[in-house]
Order: sequence, then C-alpha cells, then structure tokens
Amino acid sequence: MNKPGMLQSDEIQRARETGRKLGSTPEHSDMGLSDAARRLFAGLSAANYHALLVPQTHGGGGLDYATAGQIYEELSYHGIGFMPTLLTNAHCAELLKIAGNRQSEQGFLKKIGSDGRIFGFCLTEEDAGSDITGIRCMADQAGDGYVINGEKSIVINNSIADFFIVIATTDFSKGRAGLNAFVVDASSPGVERGESVRGFGFGNSVIGKVGFRNVAIPRENMLGEEGSGYFLVMETFDKGRPLVAASCAGAAGRLLDIVTAHVRRREQFGKPLFSFQGISFRLADLATRLRASRLLYLDALALIDEGREFTMEASMAKLFASETLRDLAEFCLEALGYRAFEADSEARNIFNDAQLLISIDGSSNVQRMVIASQL
Ligand SMILES: Cc1cc2nc3c(=O)[nH]c(=O)nc-3n(C[C@H](O)[C@H](O)[C@H](O)COP(=O)(O)OP(=O)(O)OC[C@H]3O[C@@H](n4cnc5c(N)ncnc54)[C@H](O)[C@@H]3O)c2cc1C
Repeated sequence: MNKPGMLQSDEIQRARETGRKLGSTPEHSDMGLSDAARRLFAGLSAANYHALLVPQTHGGGGLDYATAGQIYEELSYHGIGFMPTLLTNAHCAELLKIAGNRQSEQGFLKKIGSDGRIFGFCLTEEDAGSDITGIRCMADQAGDGYVINGEKSIVINNSIADFFIVIATTDFSKGRAGLNAFVVDASSPGVERGESVRGFGFGNSVIGKVGFRNVAIPRENMLGEEGSGYFLVMETFDKGRPLVAASCAGAAGRLLDIVTAHVRRREQFGKPLFSFQGISFRLADLATRLRASRLLYLDALALIDEGREFTMEASMAKLFASETLRDLAEFCLEALGYRAFEADSEARNIFNDAQLLISIDGSSNVQRMVIASQL
C-alpha cells in the first residue's frame, strides 16, 4: 500500500532490511532471555538505530521526529517484539533532553548515544499506575546526594539496563510537586532486579520488577530542577506517544498484509473469503483506519519538529493507532481461523502485544483524558 508522507526509499529500505533481520531472530533460542534481549539491542545499535533522536554531537542519529517515526514504523512491521527496548531508550533520552543542558544530563545522553548503553524507565508502582501522584518510592537527601528506597512494579529492560531513570518523591505530602527524576547506575549496591517475565509478550524483550534498597546517588544525578519530575514525565510521554503510534502502525501493516494474503488465498463455499463482503468490507475499514493512524502520527511528529503545540495530537495518534492495531489483530485471529492459534503464530503474538501497547505511555482512557483537557 502507498504510505502517505513516507521517507525516501533508500532510508526505508535500510530500516526494512534491519527490521527483517532482527524480526527473524528466533525467540526461543537456548540463550537466556536477557542474553537474547541484549543481542537484539546490539543488532539495533550496529545499524545505528539505538539513539535516532539523540543529537549527533552525543553519538546519536540526530534525526527529526517525523523521520524517526517512519523508521520505527518500518522496524515494527518486521517485529513489534523488539521495539520496547528501543522505545524505552528513546523515552529516557527524551527525558534527559527535556531535563536540561547541565553536564550530568549531557553525560547521560552520551551514554545512550555514543556508548550505546541500555536504560530502563522506573515509574509505575503497585499504587501508582495511571495516577503517578501515588508514587511512594522515596529519595531522601543524605549528605551531598540522595538515598533511594522503593519498588517499581514493571520495567522494560529490567535485567539488561545499565542505568535506570527513577521517578521518586522527595516529599510525598507535596503530591506532584514532590516528584523528581534521578539516574541510578544499575550496578549500584542496593539495586535489586526482579526476574524478567517472558509471559508478558513482546518477544525477546525483558520486563520485570526493580527494587531500590538504600541506593546512594550523587546530587547531580537528579535531573532538571527540583520538583520537576511530574512535568518531565508528562512531556516525555507526550513526545513518546506518536512514536508508540508509529510502532503500532508498523505492526498493523504487517497484520493487514498477513490477513489480506490469507483471505485472498483461502476458499470456502467455492470462493476466496475475500469475495465475501462480510470479510472485504471489514478489511476496507481497517485499511482506512491504518492509513489514518499514519497520518495522525506523522501530523503529531511534524508539530514537534516545527516546535508547535502537539500534546493533544500526540494522544490522538496513540489512542487511534493502538486501538486500530488491537482491532486489526482481533479481526486477523477471526479470519485466520484455527491457524491463528497454532504454535508460533505471528498473528496471535501481535494480538497479545497489541493489548500491551494500549497500556504503554498511558492507557486509552488516559489519552482521552489528555485530549479532553485540550478541547
Ligand atoms: C508491557 C508493558 C510494559 C510497561 N513498561 C513499563 C516501564 O518500563 N516502566 C514503567 O514505569 N511502567 C511500565 N508499564 C506500566 C504502564 O505504564 C502502566 O500499565 C500504565 O501506566 C497503567 O497503569 P496500571 O496498569 O496500574 O493500570 P491502572 O492505572 O490501574 O488502570 C487500569 C484501567 O483503569 C483505567 N483508568 C484509570 N484511571 C481512570 C480514569 N480516571 N478514568 C477512566 N479510566 C481510568 C485505565 O484506562 C485502565 O484501563 C508497562 C506496562 C505494560 C503493559
């Protein structure tokens, strides 16, 4: 299908080849999950896709948002499962860029760009999901630094990250004004990584808990101004949402190709399934929604590139693209029949990952709250 506003073919071709290579990496190798996840990240780094939005001066790709989004779409077409690692690093890089230009923030950004280090984003807790003002993870001032204590429930890259960005409160009674962002070296004494859970989905991505027990960090590891944690998280999500939407569009494109090929080939009642309008009209609707997903994420990313207001458009892109992917995945399972449930079914895996993508960077209702707040 012709894609609106897409990049020139040589850049797309390169993303396609990398995506194809990484997407075909077997999931259930005899390697441990963390080793497999590290190998995937190394493959992305080797192709220089590990830090697309980090400035070239810091070892990154120095791309604009619209270009990076289209590359994410292409990569995701070949494997949504390896995207969470990349997206998490992109979110952490974004938070560092928003936080400021001090030596420490610049240094951490170089760790993502020049050094190709892996980051994890530690936000969610048992009592702090959609509403992050419930965060209980404490950062107490101690000498010329902080000591962090708390438990984060679900962290992408938990077992492979070299660094974590941790959102903690310096004063719970202050609500959102007490929240702050800190960088923690993952090898610090007191950092406890929970077991990574394969069952979540997302192929070889690693996801699990991270605990902090009296983890001492220097003062310069606090990002941005004191009390800026809430703002940093919100702006990071704003910028991340169209990138997640681009990944959803990539996976949706893959499903559309899978299901269209199947219904054209499969004959029942003497004709291909595609010849029945009960099938082809639903495909027509979903193909239309996929094209709209692309236009929405490209629109939001173009607004970011132009330095214009983009919060509402970013949420619209995430809401629409993730729900389109979910609905396409559901249709795909229905149209493939029993084949969708066979071992290693790509459609079933994407169906599972589509549900997860709805939660990431704020659920659908959270996007609706953001959109409504801007109307
Ligand atoms: C695969 C995966 C990876 C993740 N990775 C990370 C990570 O790396 N780091 C991290 O910190 N977190 C991570 N998360 C957590 C994610 O950010 C949270 O799942 C998300 O913030 C929602 O929190 P929750 O799951 O506790 O749901 P809840 O906040 O309990 O929400 C449950 C449901 O209630 C709805 N809801 C909540 N409030 C309202 C309201 N006011 N009005 C209407 N509906 C409402 C929500 O839309 C949702 O459908 C990950 C999640 C997933 C699924």
